[in-house]
Amino acid sequence: MNVRRLIPTAAVASATVLGLTALSACSSSSAADKNDGKLNVTASFYPMQYLAQEIGGDHVSVDTLTKPGVEPHDLELSPRQTATLGESDVILYLKGIQPAVDDAIGQSGVKNTVDAATLTKLEKHGTGVGHDHGHEGEKHAEDEHGHEEDEHGHDEEGEAGADPHIWLDPVKYAEVAEGVGKALEKADPDHAAAYKKNTKALVEKLDALNTKFEGGLKDTKTKTFITTHSAFGYLAERYGLDQEGISGIDPESDPSPARIKELQDIAEEDKVSTVFFETLASDKTAKTLANDAGLKTDVLDPLEGITDKSKGDDYIGVMESNLAALQKALGAK
Ligand SMILES: [Zn+2]
Repeated sequence: MNVRRLIPTAAVASATVLGLTALSACSSSSAADKNDGKLNVTASFYPMQYLAQEIGGDHVSVDTLTKPGVEPHDLELSPRQTATLGESDVILYLKGIQPAVDDAIGQSGVKNTVDAATLTKLEKHGTGVGHDHGHEGEKHAEDEHGHEEDEHGHDEEGEAGADPHIWLDPVKYAEVAEGVGKALEKADPDHAAAYKKNTKALVEKLDALNTKFEGGLKDTKTKTFITTHSAFGYLAERYGLDQEGISGIDPESDPSPARIKELQDIAEEDKVSTVFFETLASDKTAKTLANDAGLKTDVLDPLEGITDKSKGDDYIGVMESNLAALQKALGAK
């Protein structure tokens, strides 16, 4: 008999608890009802993670699909990652760089997806293949690059072969930051003021970084740099440099013997001092090339992931290391 009397009491008590929970959830933004009221943002890889963290600050909980130290281009998602992707309030990604991620996002059912590629203007870049020393004029060289891209299959990624590495140009990255800020304001209007303020602060940091790059690379002995994969096309264009990639836009593709020979010639003609390699992709070809041509090697980090070994704690820190490495390699005055 006592038991009967206890049951309603327990039921009333739990109903009260449920009521309170429901009430507190309603008082916060509808999208931000998980993770202690924080907006759940899933970022596809580091450059997206950095934007989400800088702009979202304390109001977001950021999960990154590409774990530190993993080369992102050919990332495959685990079934668990695919399942949890559907629980995101916002997904921030860059279409064209990780095909498996693009597919999973398409199937996730999440309405609030932000494609960074739509927040700035993408361009096609040559890989430096077909570099023509006999002719001056960028236009001519670009036409050649277009043809060569088709032949070498470097245009597999992205729509119509557009180069996805926009984050390596601080100016384009700032444009993406502005768009991400607006997207977070819309997804979580309760904290719009904070997102606006954080976006402004980040854009100012990126502007300062751009100024440093402009000044630091204005007067150099050579404009040509050799990299492992062609991640620095936007950066090269922004600061008037000439990127010569060993492999294409995808770090997994192998260069032809003809390309290696060509790079050796370019290195000699353009007085290249250094072959750059990176931390997440294979450095074998870069080191062989440098060895054969009597060149130095150094790290130029495409920031596709960040680890303890990265030369900097975050995007800005690594980019500053990249600037120092470029200044040294190009003979900045
Ligand atoms: Zn890349």
